[in-house]
Amino acid sequence: MKPISEDIISPLQHFIKETQHPLILIHYNPDGDAIGSALGFYHYLVKKGKNPIVVSPNDYPKFLHWLPGNDKVLVYKRQSGTVLNALKQADVIFVLDFNDADRVNDLEKYLKNAKASKVLIDHHPEPGNFADLVISDVIYSSTAELVYHVLESLGDDHLIDKTIAECLYTGIMTDTGSFNYNSSQPYTYYVVSKLIGLGINKDQIYWNIYDNYSAERMRLLGYCLYKKMEVFPEYHTAFISITKEELKTFNFAPGDSEGFVNYPLSIKGIRFSAIFVENDKHVKISFRSKGAFPTHKFAEKHFNGGGHKNASGGNSFESLEKTLQKFLDLLPQYKTALKNGL
Ligand code: 5GP
Ligand code: MN
Repeated sequence: MKPISEDIISPLQHFIKETQHPLILIHYNPDGDAIGSALGFYHYLVKKGKNPIVVSPNDYPKFLHWLPGNDKVLVYKRQSGTVLNALKQADVIFVLDFNDADRVNDLEKYLKNAKASKVLIDHHPEPGNFADLVISDVIYSSTAELVYHVLESLGDDHLIDKTIAECLYTGIMTDTGSFNYNSSQPYTYYVVSKLIGLGINKDQIYWNIYDNYSAERMRLLGYCLYKKMEVFPEYHTAFISITKEELKTFNFAPGDSEGFVNYPLSIKGIRFSAIFVENDKHVKISFRSKGAFPTHKFAEKHFNGGGHKNASGGNSFESLEKTLQKFLDLLPQYKTALKNGL
């Protein structure tokens, strides 16, 4: 295990013991790690005799709906009154898998103004200063892995059962692209071995997440790779863009473009990849890199975003065309960084 220091565990123990109205909050557009770590922690708190509430700012892809406890998640976009009441009532808010209050979008002001104590459990760089207790380190593959170490450090590993293990394994698997990236620390595998020891079916979890797409999603992927991928070998960069009309043509469902951004990195010499998806309000961008190029700094500086070094995202409020032009215009100044990227 990787023990968490006593000066963190001891106040955490206090928060967990005393809370009457715990609330678990995750980021906008939650991914497998957000949902997996939140539900894993939810089931743990239930075992501690609590009645926690889990809140997601918006809906998330169907391939995450099989997770045990999914029916307990309140979605602010659809249940705003209930969520705002719960935020008012909460005495401790556990903030999972994000580092900055603006990652909950419209809920930001309610989170900041909530009278509850805030406990941040996360693995993104540079956690913001809105929480009373910060449990955060980029060394962890995922928030789900960190939750495991936290529970073990609390001396509560005997409470981790198959249900919790399924949730946490999902977070680790999705945040590492099935142990492709963010997964070079030995204790990640210590946790995985413990979770598998609890009887989870890791193959079934993989199928639930990755082999659960519509035929249209596969056709959209084919179309993007064939028609919409642009490659710039001199900058070791490639990107994909998708317009609103194309999303309609392929009957787009939330989550359908998940993973597309990784494909260009399979091209020899490509170390930086991006996908631009046009929606009604703005252009949502995902960045990925291999090696040293810090995509989160790039996202933060130019595209109102952030994230991890090798996986980040951002937003543009200009047209898709202008956004792509801006991206292209930026590449020359990063030529050396991209060249030395590995
Ligand atoms: P994805 O590309 O899968 O949507 O996001 C990858 C990672 O980038 C997320 O885990 C998150 O850390 C970060 N990320 C994505 N979108 C945003 C954003 O709009 N703002 C910030 N700060 N981080 C983001
Ligand atoms: Mn994560």
